[in-house]
Amino acid sequence: MGISTTAIHGGETRPTPGMGVSAPLVQSVNYAQEAGTSEGLLYTRYGNTPNADRVQKRLALLEGAEAALVLSSGMGATACAMLALLRPGDHLISSSWIYGGTRKLFMEDLTGMGIEVSFVNPLEPRAWRKGLKKNTRVIFLESPVNPTCRVLELSSLQSLAHAQGIALVVDSTFASPVNFRPMEHGVDVVIHSATKYLNGHHDILAGVVCGNEPFIDEVRRKMTVWGQAPDPFACWLLERGLKTLDVRVKRQNENAMRVAQWCSTRPEIAKAHYPGLPTHPDHAIAKTLLDGFGGMMAIELKGGGPATLKFVKKLQVFTYAASLGGVDSLVIEPRYSSHEHMTPEERQRIGIPDGFLRMSIGIENAEDLIADIEQALQQ
Ligand SMILES: *Cc1c(COP(=O)(O)O)cnc(C)c1O
Repeated sequence: MGISTTAIHGGETRPTPGMGVSAPLVQSVNYAQEAGTSEGLLYTRYGNTPNADRVQKRLALLEGAEAALVLSSGMGATACAMLALLRPGDHLISSSWIYGGTRKLFMEDLTGMGIEVSFVNPLEPRAWRKGLKKNTRVIFLESPVNPTCRVLELSSLQSLAHAQGIALVVDSTFASPVNFRPMEHGVDVVIHSATKYLNGHHDILAGVVCGNEPFIDEVRRKMTVWGQAPDPFACWLLERGLKTLDVRVKRQNENAMRVAQWCSTRPEIAKAHYPGLPTHPDHAIAKTLLDGFGGMMAIELKGGGPATLKFVKKLQVFTYAASLGGVDSLVIEPRYSSHEHMTPEERQRIGIPDGFLRMSIGIENAEDLIADIEQALQQ
């Protein structure tokens, strides 16, 4: 089945006459049970109740994984996946270009638990190999990268990890399974902040971990005792959001391409960052790895930080807000959000000068988005 059919029907049993076409929301934490057996013990914190079960099966099919687990946030997903993979004394090697919350989890919390953590520049293939240790258990990366939209190559990392029995873990939030399915490239574990594209409507917080059955059982065990299970209503909304994933993301791909192309011709804009533009440093890699270039892009105005601040205040269709991947178009400056903890020099070094503006392109009409940018530039 195609990705859209899977997103709508994957894993479900055919509705029989009298059943709702929309699956019922079962907003209950506990369930009546047979006496004298622990079989059929359902409880929301175990991630095995009807709405969680349905959406998990569907997500596993979409990613091409044996199993998937939905958690209460993207951070909960990464945290429980790492708890399942790493013990004190183990070593985690991570791309240095990762989500700020993940960076904090690795640097402060995992380190505090006696796990060794090191970061490498993901664009230096030799740095990964050099950084490996006898106790390395996990290689972690995020691609496409927030907010620079860099796209990382995977094949050499895949062979490196598997030659040494190391788990290769990818945070694939920016791509969604419509544009990229890391498991087709030998990745062992895929993580998503389902808050973003998978749900796509700015109204729930959720995360997903995909992997093989025994591993997902272990993540579920961690979720059960650390307590990051999602509420049934969040699972129900996530299932509803998934049904339009394919059409939303395809529209976002198209819109972002049009906005990025338009921006790249404007004299007021010094740079437009989008993997779909031939000028993007990873355009060739993106063309081979991705089925679509995504809805995330960035611009740098010629006037730098002060011009950007004036510009964003004039936008009428775009909302200035954190988060991404939903139907509404958003802009935000990483220096005041995800990269606020760094000095201007540190940001400059990783390609985020003051005035760098991240844009999450929604599903509005592209011409309205372009007109909005144009009128704000003119003002
Ligand atoms: C938002 C985000 C996260 C964290 O997800 P939450 O759902 O906010 O906990 C992790 N990774 C990436 C790439 C993200 O964009």
